[in-house]
Amino acid sequence: MKRALITGITGQDGSFLAEFLLEKGYEVFGLARHESWIRPHSASHLADRVTVLFGDMSEGGDIASALQEARPDEIYNLASQSRPGESWARAPETLMINGMGAIRLFDAVRHTCPKARVYHASSSEMFGGTCSGPQNEDTPFHPANPYAAAKVYAHHLVRICRDSYGLFISSGILFNHESERRPLHFVTQKIAYGAACAALGISNSRDLNELGRPIVTDGRLALGNLDIARDWGHASDFVRAMWLMLQQDKADDFVVGTGKLHTLRDLCQAAYGRVRLDWKDHVMSDPGLVRPLETGQTLADASKARKILNWEPTISFEEMVGKMVDAQIQRLESCSGR
Ligand code: NAP
Repeated sequence: MKRALITGITGQDGSFLAEFLLEKGYEVFGLARHESWIRPHSASHLADRVTVLFGDMSEGGDIASALQEARPDEIYNLASQSRPGESWARAPETLMINGMGAIRLFDAVRHTCPKARVYHASSSEMFGGTCSGPQNEDTPFHPANPYAAAKVYAHHLVRICRDSYGLFISSGILFNHESERRPLHFVTQKIAYGAACAALGISNSRDLNELGRPIVTDGRLALGNLDIARDWGHASDFVRAMWLMLQQDKADDFVVGTGKLHTLRDLCQAAYGRVRLDWKDHVMSDPGLVRPLETGQTLADASKARKILNWEPTISFEEMVGKMVDAQIQRLESCSGR
């Protein structure tokens, strides 16, 4: 039986990946912070099927102990301060987890289990604000926030550790992927939540946004820049690409995305359309939610992943948004005891 260790198992991708690997017959270990594991999280339903190893990516000793205990064949490094917008206010912590955490892990792999195959979570945010046209593995990086800068740092270390020590580390330059498990502070989930509130007639939400105000106030959802365009897919499709990368003969970097661009307006239209409402009646703009510097349009040219990994997304943008809205309706109904 193959053994896999997932850092960031409590997160969106970690939980989908754990399900995927369990389904494939892997023994799954997860590195998680103790306080996160004992709270409800995306992988709570898997608690009796995976082995949790407590640790923090900012502690090299925790990572080495986890590797010694798990003795993994495959390692998926997903742990991250994963909110680009928040990384301005949490820049040192973001670098510590996303950048230094990665080098600590690679170093521990080198000393503990150099034959293990490692997937590292890079990000399309690395392309930043200045590129035009679809982005592939050769597109230069222009990070536009501290999150993206830390991801670029770790991405270069992947190549350096491959070349210097012969480690098998593959980077997935993943474009945005969402799901019913996205936390509420991500804009996609806020929109799904806003549509669900509108469908249920909730004018003032109990849940708060990153500015500490109700996500929906007087029947309106406050959003930042609606012209932002992204390549959005569903997380369950993307974790399959992570696994495929580690089944190849050699480690490499792969761009993964749907190749379809949508704006936040499109997302609003799909979400409110799901509950047969016009988003323009329910959404307002709040300059306080605009980032100091926006990442530009990111659109994946995933032809290498399609050709070498034989990877294709299976869930469309509309299906993904529909699943998110339905899940929010269900959540709000169960909270209100309806
Ligand atoms: P997520 O839901 O925010 O999950 C992040 C995970 O990292 C959580 O389990 C979190 O645990 C863990 N973590 C954070 N700080 C940690 C620390 N100091 N020590 C140990 N664990 C820590 O993110 P995701 O959407 O699943 O993304 C997975 C990875 O892919 C991330 O590296 C992200 O940057 C990258 N990525 C995501 C996307 C996307 O669109 N989703 C796109 C490109 C790249 P806690 O529960 O303790 O906070």
